[in-house]
Amino acid sequence: SDTLRNTRTSVPSICPFCGVGCSLQFDAERDSATGWRGPVNSRGEVCPKGVAAFDVVDHAERLTTPLVRDDDGDLREATWGEAVSRVETAFGDVVRRHGPDALAFFASSNCTNEENYVLQKLARLLGTNSVDNCARLCHSSTVAAMRERLGAGAMTNSLADVRDETDCLLVVGANPAEQHPIIFRSYLLPAIRRGATLIHVDPRANATTDAATLHLPVRPGYDIPLLNAMARVVLDEGLVDDAFVSTRVTDFEAFHTALDDVDVEANAELAGVDPATIREAARAYASAENAAIVTGMGMSQHHYGTDNVHALLNLALLTGNLGKPGAGINPLRGQNNVQGAGDVGALPDLLPGYADVTDPEARARVAEVWGVGADTLPELPGRTEVEATHAFGESVFGALVFGENPLVTEPNLNRVREQFERLDCLVVLDIFPTETVELADVVLPGSSWAEKAGTVTNTDRQVMRMRPLADTPGDARLDLDVLCELGRRLTEHPGQFEYDGPEAVFEELKRVTPQYAGMSYDGIGTGSQRWPFPAGATAGTAVLHVDHFASGSQTAELRPVAHVDPADDVGDDELVLTTGRVLQQFNSGAVTRRSGMLMRLRGADVLQMHPDDAAVRGIDDGDTVVVSNARGEVTVEVEVTPAIRPGTVFTTFHYATPLANLLTGDALDPVAKIPEYKHTAVRIAGVRP
Ligand code: SF4
Repeated sequence: SDTLRNTRTSVPSICPFCGVGCSLQFDAERDSATGWRGPVNSRGEVCPKGVAAFDVVDHAERLTTPLVRDDDGDLREATWGEAVSRVETAFGDVVRRHGPDALAFFASSNCTNEENYVLQKLARLLGTNSVDNCARLCHSSTVAAMRERLGAGAMTNSLADVRDETDCLLVVGANPAEQHPIIFRSYLLPAIRRGATLIHVDPRANATTDAATLHLPVRPGYDIPLLNAMARVVLDEGLVDDAFVSTRVTDFEAFHTALDDVDVEANAELAGVDPATIREAARAYASAENAAIVTGMGMSQHHYGTDNVHALLNLALLTGNLGKPGAGINPLRGQNNVQGAGDVGALPDLLPGYADVTDPEARARVAEVWGVGADTLPELPGRTEVEATHAFGESVFGALVFGENPLVTEPNLNRVREQFERLDCLVVLDIFPTETVELADVVLPGSSWAEKAGTVTNTDRQVMRMRPLADTPGDARLDLDVLCELGRRLTEHPGQFEYDGPEAVFEELKRVTPQYAGMSYDGIGTGSQRWPFPAGATAGTAVLHVDHFASGSQTAELRPVAHVDPADDVGDDELVLTTGRVLQQFNSGAVTRRSGMLMRLRGADVLQMHPDDAAVRGIDDGDTVVVSNARGEVTVEVEVTPAIRPGTVFTTFHYATPLANLLTGDALDPVAKIPEYKHTAVRIAGVRP
């Protein structure tokens, strides 16, 4: 390419977008990305986002110079020395006046394991566990439920064994055909073509539904009545796997008793799904030799998201669908390193390797590797991302946001903006002037995916290597170098942030992350190594929980869960807004909205509305409407479609206009602290000409 700086076209890297982890390389002839035959996309396939991945590397809006906010309130260019000194002074003041827990660190699920590891080390050596990543907003409830019951918060199976061995796919609250396109095309569709039944649970018929045998258009927020009804059918019709239950499950009798009160017809009415279809789905799932659950944010993003996943776990345990190929519970992770960011400790309650911060032995093990005293690391859990935001200006006064855009992705954005404006010092390390950068006091220009080296961990636990394909523009620096400099300047342990590149960081993080202990950069090569990969092993483990659960126990408990109403009451004239994603855009859109190709494919958002709801409001397809509630309002064009269930409307959160998260509420799951994005009461208040 004439435009891409110093491109090294012959080396593969990993797509910066979703958790599939497709390998990419630069195609100079086409001046775009092209697939490289990697461990996930073995035929080199990529989706439209992957093809557009290079569109943004040389983009004119890249941040290329540090910026600091002047006394008159404007951001102006600065040297790196001035910008980093500003951070050092401001964060030092906050710690002196309020203590280290008055700082918050937002790590990045879109950046490497090494970068996230260094950031959580920086936070902890400053004295706070308030470091989190945006897994908090997508699958923290899934991880919490699976860790608690099984001992590991990750896909139980590999994509390959699901493709080859499953007889039934129960896809709940996920739309992999659009959100994880290469998984759908290369793993789920081959299973379906081989004869596997696809059951799709989603309030909205979409591209995944097109391949389904059964569609259960559940009311948003009523998954537990649906899943309990399925469990009731399994019990009533003798579909329990008795051998599995007798050896691998506890509390069966108590669970059975708790479900005595469940009436399939009543639950079906609550869930808004035909009871005959629920029975058919339960029989298909429980009768299959190997049945795999694939779960997404339709399950996790509720204020009882953890209980939703507990209900899924009950179904899998009852039917013996854990610990064997083609089965399990398989959360599809959103960003290219959302799994890894948690693995390496960018979480407020867990150290690298998911060790509890309150465990003194775990803290001592990590402290020894970091060369600090056993009592150096903070022992109380820190604030989660949304809890930290809600404390801005009250008990948190300084924040570092790395590669994320909470001013688009957090719920109840009018409140979030007010909270961010109350910070003494907001530091943002990013590559574009995002909506969050607009509020920053210090802006540090970092590196895009194509400029960095390191590892990322995809949705089925494969650790893969990124390689630099271009140089950083202007004065922008590699993210890892920036984070290490902040570690040297902000903490009393500057020697702990002297690394000879990302491989040295990886070697260290392996020592505190047992799941990665046996891996090596050479071993990963241009392929992958999958966790758990203990020291001395020759390979990772594809199927978890085979003889015993990752918890160490041979058994896992059945745990009854009861329906809880969604946080928003829905008035007679209101509809339920549920938000989600589409194929052509990604997360806050900070990157994909800057791709000409992706904006040509889908440059604006729409609000999907059922024809019955449109008719009573006098709305036609293509009309522009105001969607509002007490939290805010947005203006958006309507797509009238029978694909969405009556009473429900759908839009995405990718666009700055409309900014859907102005409407969403900030009720949090009590365990995982994930917000309720999937059920928001809204009025369609008027039709604008
Ligand atoms: Fe990238 Fe995901 Fe598309 Fe693969 S499926 S090319 S990882 S966005």
